[in-house]
Amino acid sequence: LSDRVGTFTDSVIRRMTRISDEYGAINLSQGFPDFDPPAEILDALARVAHEGPHQYSITFGAENFREALARKQSRAIGREIDPEKEIVVTCGGTESMMCAVMTICNPGDKIIVFSPFYENYGADAILSGAEPIYVPLVPPEYHFDLKLVEEGFRQGAKGIIVCNPSNPCGKVFTREELMGIGQLALQYDAFVITDEVYEHMVYAPNHHVCMASLPGMYEHTITCNSLSKTYSITGWRLGYLIGPEEVVEGAKKVHDFLTVGAPAPLQEAAVVGLNFPQSYYDNLLETYTRKRQHFLDGLDRIGLKHNIPQGTYFVLVDIQEFLDLPQFAGYTDLEFCEWMIREIGVAAVPGSSFFREPVNNLIRLHFAREESTIDEAIRRLSRMA
Ligand code: GLN
Repeated sequence: LSDRVGTFTDSVIRRMTRISDEYGAINLSQGFPDFDPPAEILDALARVAHEGPHQYSITFGAENFREALARKQSRAIGREIDPEKEIVVTCGGTESMMCAVMTICNPGDKIIVFSPFYENYGADAILSGAEPIYVPLVPPEYHFDLKLVEEGFRQGAKGIIVCNPSNPCGKVFTREELMGIGQLALQYDAFVITDEVYEHMVYAPNHHVCMASLPGMYEHTITCNSLSKTYSITGWRLGYLIGPEEVVEGAKKVHDFLTVGAPAPLQEAAVVGLNFPQSYYDNLLETYTRKRQHFLDGLDRIGLKHNIPQGTYFVLVDIQEFLDLPQFAGYTDLEFCEWMIREIGVAAVPGSSFFREPVNNLIRLHFAREESTIDEAIRRLSRMA
């Protein structure tokens, strides 16, 4: 086997789903909804089953899909996106991130990653031969020191990955924070790679700002995104990246040889979603705002300590008080999560899989669940508290 495969483990997030399924637990680990996608999208899928297309789309995305994407994201970025030259449709946000890192990094290049971070970024860097430089997001506010970011660029980092809103800590970067990062990227002639898959799950009074919309930043930003969370279709594997023409030209090649293309029938069905009016996104946010409140109230009621996410559907819960009990002496957070699945019937992701620093006292839970399921999860978690 290659040395490469020895340098990272399987995804702990996805592993927790497998263990959860094995024990029939309530799965609050890997983030995906348990409710149906919008009916219009499902109807379109049924139509496409008979009418097609069933063969490849253009490798970098079906034309009507890219055009609909360009219309939607031009509004978010505040600039006319060219669907021919500035978009690559990928197999999920996962491929768009991998593709972005492979497009800008040579083996040996450095890339700045905030910690905690979504675990894929580690593998994105390793598979591209790039070396991450970690900059801590410091709880409880998950603030960062811009000087450390600059230090990374001074060491020659080719780019920085910004997950906004941030998985797993729910941080929403303010305009000022993004401006600070962006200014450094311009000054050091580097790229910002953003992961914005939770863009529509940003809770008031916070609001989402696209890095690519800031003055001068379009040419230095690769925006990665996905339809998974926005339309509740995580299994469809539809994502995309948007960037300046020269970058996208490179990314198109990387993408073509990685996967040839995202599923053509699913692009055709999902176009319907991309053309939804603003009210769809308002309703989605309202739904998740309600679920968030419901879940946080439940956690408060049973006395579990947690952060309050500004965005995403993830919550970090502090398990230190349990680890201090004699029966959990010496437990890692992973062992604690395995115990939870077996004995409590709720699956979480151990926090250590998101942190560069040695963190053992956090677990990540998500609330993309029907409220009755959230209630049952809280009931089960109360046996722990
Ligand atoms: N982003 C989701 C999570 O962190 C899952 C994404 C995935 O597993 N591809 O749980």
